[in-house]
Amino acid sequence: LRAAREAGVAVAAELDLAARALAGTRLIVVTGTNGKSTTTALIGHLLEAAGREVTVAGNIGRPLIEAALEPKPPAWAAVEASSFQLHDAPHLTPAVGVLTNLAPDHLDRYASVEAYYGDKRLLFRNASVDAVWVLNGDDAGVAALAHGVPGRRRAFRVGAAADAWLDPATGRLKLGDRDLLPRERLPLLGEHNVANALAAALAAEAAGLDASAIARGLASFHGLPHRLELVREARGIAWINDSKATNVASTAVALRAMRRPYVLIAGGRHKGEPY
Ligand code: ADP
Repeated sequence: LRAAREAGVAVAAELDLAARALAGTRLIVVTGTNGKSTTTALIGHLLEAAGREVTVAGNIGRPLIEAALEPKPPAWAAVEASSFQLHDAPHLTPAVGVLTNLAPDHLDRYASVEAYYGDKRLLFRNASVDAVWVLNGDDAGVAALAHGVPGRRRAFRVGAAADAWLDPATGRLKLGDRDLLPRERLPLLGEHNVANALAAALAAEAAGLDASAIARGLASFHGLPHRLELVREARGIAWINDSKATNVASTAVALRAMRRPYVLIAGGRHKGEPY
């Protein structure tokens, strides 16, 4: 890559080629430190449950370029984008962009947290007034990153009124003053997953879904493997697989989601953040 750059050869990520090839597909691009895969999959689930033509792609497993190879490209794509992918995707122009949250990560690959957040900010690089930005209203870092970006802003918050929020008084998820569903009907553990659900709801709303279609979809999404996944309950002990919690922030939210005494089994190699 260095040799190519020094020789003046353009370097483009697969995501960039795909975005250029899928000019007729509306992209809902999800980035942030944690919750990207869950939110992306949930957006795909909501749109599909409402009968929309959508593909789920990007960092979540299926390269977006595969969608570009289909005989008929989909109307919508829910795309998970990592900071590394955003770095080399100068043509990526989200119709809807979602920024889940920001916390230190990947300090084994970035010189500083600022450099890491700088790549996340590239989500907005082609922002226009037509874009919709779904932003975490509980995260000051997200607000700072999106400051001054053109487009329509939609905020989600857990516990305080916003465009999508969990009303602490009633325990219900809401879209502004419209009701979605009670928290306990969302089949996912943890408050962070409420945030993911609210983010997905706003993205789905931006794609034209109404509150009742969104609520139906939220109630039927059972999460992804390896993310606070209940493996089984045996002899009064619930065994939970959260092996995708690979940074401090995601481990902390997992522990906050526990409602019984727990034993944490952790290991592996850290990426430069203090545990
Ligand atoms: P990503 O694609 O950003 O890595 P995932 O949805 O795969 O996110 O979740 C990765 C880990 O982060 C999981 O262990 C999950 O429990 C945790 N997590 C999910 N959503 C959030 C969130 N909104 N805030 C913090 N941690 C989260």
